[in-house]
Amino acid sequence: MVKDSYDFSWEDLGNLEIGRPNLGNETSVAVYRLMQFTFKDVLSKELGKEKTSQLFIQAGLVAGREFCRNILNTSLPLNEFIAELTQKLVDLKVGILRVEKAEMDNLKFVLTVSEDLDCSGLPVLGETVCNYDEGFISGIFKEYTGKDFLTKEVDCWATGDRTCRFDVKPV
Ligand SMILES: [Zn+2]
Repeated sequence: MVKDSYDFSWEDLGNLEIGRPNLGNETSVAVYRLMQFTFKDVLSKELGKEKTSQLFIQAGLVAGREFCRNILNTSLPLNEFIAELTQKLVDLKVGILRVEKAEMDNLKFVLTVSEDLDCSGLPVLGETVCNYDEGFISGIFKEYTGKDFLTKEVDCWATGDRTCRFDVKPV
C-alpha cells in the first residue's frame, strides 16, 4: 500500500539538462548498484534484513507509481500499455521485459526481466534480491488499474537463473 504521505515528486529529480550539460543524464550500472547495495547493507544492519526488504518494496511502490504517472500513458488499453512499458524499460536501459503468461480478465501475470539493473550477473546467493523491482512493478500496475497488487520474484540471477521472473497479481 502506497501511503499518500510520501513527499517524493518527479521534480525532485532535478533538471539534468541544466545540471549536467557535459556529463548528461546517464551513469554506469556499477554506480547504481554501489548505491543500492550499500543502502541495503547499512539498512539491514540497522533494521534487519526483513524490514529492509519491506522498505525496498515500499520505495519501489512509490517509484513505480511516479514512473507510471510521469513516463507512461495510462489511457492506453492494457496490451498497448504493457508494450509502451516494455519499450520505456529498454529506452532507459532498465531491463528487457517479457510477458510470459497473462490472464487479462483477472490481471494475473508472469513477467520476466532480463539484463535487469539490480541483479543480472550477480553471484548465486540462494535467494531472490530484487525487492525494489517487486515494488516497482506493483506500483505501476496499481497506478494503471487502481487496484493493489502483490508482486513476488520467483527466479533471479541471485538464485542461479538467467532472468528475473515475477508473479504479479491483484491483492
Ligand atoms: Zn532478480
